[in-house]
Amino acid sequence: MVAVDVRRDRMLRRQPRPSEFADRLRNRRLERWERHGKFLLARLVGDITWVTHLGMSGRVSHVPVGTVEPAHTNVVVTFDDGTEFRLVDPRTFGFVSAYLPEELEMLVTGHLGPDALDDLPRTARIAEALSGRTAPIKALLLDQALIAGVGNIYADESLHRARISPHRPGGRLSIDDLKVLRGGIKRSLEAGLRWGGTSLDDLAYLLPDGRAGEFASRLAVYGREDEPCRRCGGMIHRDVIRQRSSFWCPQCQS
Ligand SMILES: [Zn+2]
Repeated sequence: MVAVDVRRDRMLRRQPRPSEFADRLRNRRLERWERHGKFLLARLVGDITWVTHLGMSGRVSHVPVGTVEPAHTNVVVTFDDGTEFRLVDPRTFGFVSAYLPEELEMLVTGHLGPDALDDLPRTARIAEALSGRTAPIKALLLDQALIAGVGNIYADESLHRARISPHRPGGRLSIDDLKVLRGGIKRSLEAGLRWGGTSLDDLAYLLPDGRAGEFASRLAVYGREDEPCRRCGGMIHRDVIRQRSSFWCPQCQS
């Protein structure tokens, strides 16, 4: 990367010394992109990992240098191939940072469970992790320390696929419930990926090339309050569970 431009100091709040971010990136070659849960990890030569998190409303864009910039472009990293990476984030809940291996472990990966898409635990392992937990399964699915990468939309979609109420205490789910739920998580995430993710009406999320994802029109429950369930015809409800909107069908989820 040949140039690093951070326009909002807040984007560097997770960097132990904010001034180091640009120094750690500049003139360093990108080895590969990885992801763990909701964290985008760019592995750079010299054991530096450049981390990006989108927060609630951030999006990443990767475009040729000179492409018209959207408002709220808070971070721009220019590559030597004439393209640039941008973090566009109106609400600035996202962040970027560049970590040494021990910082990465301490500040990011050490707090994350296995990745929900690439490394989804076996059912028995999920049962062990949920054993004795009284919190609603919806809240537990969002706990990134248990399984990393399931957000609000995909938690609701997974539970609907599995016909499980979001209110059920996690520790009370049977092995059979968890087997179905595991399949629901996998299929929901895979479907989301296949359709390019969920761009809602605010278009906060877009693909890196600027196109909208098409999964929103295929959502079974999320955002469909008072609309009929596509499986049973029942009415979709919206409940707030631990401060998060939760959409579900009381007629086919229990
Ligand atoms: Zn239903």
